[in-house]
Amino acid sequence: MPHASRTATPECPDRDRAAADRLIARAQRTIPVDITALAESLGLAVWESPFLPPAISGKLFRDPRHGGASGYSILVNSRESYTRKRFTVAHEVAHFLLHRKRLGEGVAEDAWYRSDFAVSEEREANRFAADLLIPPAQLARWTRSGVTDPDELARHFEVSSRAMRIQLGQFRRDQEE
Ligand SMILES: [Zn+2]
Repeated sequence: MPHASRTATPECPDRDRAAADRLIARAQRTIPVDITALAESLGLAVWESPFLPPAISGKLFRDPRHGGASGYSILVNSRESYTRKRFTVAHEVAHFLLHRKRLGEGVAEDAWYRSDFAVSEEREANRFAADLLIPPAQLARWTRSGVTDPDELARHFEVSSRAMRIQLGQFRRDQEE
């Protein structure tokens, strides 16, 4: 996506990671996590568009004119499901926090979250995104209170059943360790 000239690009105000972690912890007090509000509090504008190619789930890109305080925006494909869009926003937030130095002008993701980033970085972003939307501490609270059905948990956390099943599997493995 073409954007304003390089000279107009402001330097990203580099919020430190501790500040980001505090914002994340605050957002995670309420389930479902308001991932759009969290992204915005981290300095990212979030947009939806029906005009992204069908094979593209979303992108994170330098957006000096319309981006948030960081100068970046997240754009998600509005034709995808609500839970999928939430996961895409979380996945882009993960890239923003974990891989910003290599972000450059941005990154576009296909339906499997493949991009110019390495496969290992995509996996890292998926794991981080799952932890954003399904915080392990909250999952522990909910399962302790007797909600253990993955589909019911998925509805409460507003994630796909698949994402919830993966996170539950990870959660149980972590508990066994
Ligand atoms: Zn990605």
